[in-house]
Amino acid sequence: MVNVMYANVRPFGGPPTTLLVGADGCIVATGLAPELYPGVRVVDGGGALALPSLVDAHLHPDGTRWSEPWLSRKSGTSLEEFIANDVEVHLSATRTVAERAVALMAHAVSRGTRAWRAHVDVAPPYGTGNVEGVLEAAEQFRGVLDVQIVAFPQLGILREPGTAELLERSIRMGADLVGGLDPVGIDNDLDGHLDVIFGIAERAGVGLDIHLHERGDVGLHEVEEIARRTIRSGLGGRVTVGHAFCLANADRERLLRVADLLREADIGVTTCGLGHYPVVPFRELLAEGVRVALGTDAVRDAWTPFGDADMLRRVHYLAYVTGAITDGELEDCFDLASRQGARLLGLPPANFAVGDPADFFLVPGESLAQVVVDCPLPTHVVRGGNLVSGGA
Ligand SMILES: [Zn+2]
Repeated sequence: MVNVMYANVRPFGGPPTTLLVGADGCIVATGLAPELYPGVRVVDGGGALALPSLVDAHLHPDGTRWSEPWLSRKSGTSLEEFIANDVEVHLSATRTVAERAVALMAHAVSRGTRAWRAHVDVAPPYGTGNVEGVLEAAEQFRGVLDVQIVAFPQLGILREPGTAELLERSIRMGADLVGGLDPVGIDNDLDGHLDVIFGIAERAGVGLDIHLHERGDVGLHEVEEIARRTIRSGLGGRVTVGHAFCLANADRERLLRVADLLREADIGVTTCGLGHYPVVPFRELLAEGVRVALGTDAVRDAWTPFGDADMLRRVHYLAYVTGAITDGELEDCFDLASRQGARLLGLPPANFAVGDPADFFLVPGESLAQVVVDCPLPTHVVRGGNLVSGGA
């Protein structure tokens, strides 16, 4: 049964066509004339580009000051200083975690995002309160924005007694994955840190998503050890490493060796296109069969005044910081936030094929490459065939 037809839209900037959406929210046919379906509701796209809705594979919604008055930030030089400042800022917000997360979710959806992997701080100063807040917010967006929650030990695990229990409790409350953070740099104990998080993941039957900022040999050794443990524990396909700056600096021979291991363990990698940090060599990793996706990371929190959970804008940043010039290079960056993002989060692809969910957004423009550069605002955002933003 056809529910709605989107007419005069251009998937990926190609020729105008129609998209027929069935009652199940999936595309049932393309390219058919509206006259063939009398009585079906038709939404005229006006010749806009139709692009697959985007996936934010790594962001921190609990610490955001989104929807709050401007925060003047302190400068910091070390990760330790930033973390201490983070706790202070976190506890001084006037609106609740859920209220701020809801405001950010609404904004992300209006800019064409369909899914988040949200890292949510779990630490003795907050207990599991932030996880509760983001779970509450995610409930309000059920069917509009898919939210996977990572219980994230922002302050470390071994050096913050009680954190391991809080991580375990977060999973029981509904968090989807266990997080980790610089096992050597923060806890100074690679095996001890990994023992805890792999232990929880194995017992609970959930995946892992581990922040790795460490560079050089230390970082590469961590990646290799995570891969070996992933293979041993049978968690292949359910482990992600975030940032992985060490991969950006590795020489080609070492990178290929690590990529082999990542592919064998089926570990995904997320990168955020942050201007002052290296971006993983995503084209090389994809070519080696490693899953890679894009995220926004911090969004106007204690760490940075920047970030807005707008994935099209994040694609633009990624293209800019990686020196994209050709249409193909610009399109690759978009692919990381769309098709590759869905792959990393285990979501169905939304590429306008028959059977794909009708999850897309419409933007005015000439081509996908031009849209990545100009970042026009979506006029319509569609989830499962339903208009969830715009279209007024
Ligand atoms: Zn992060």
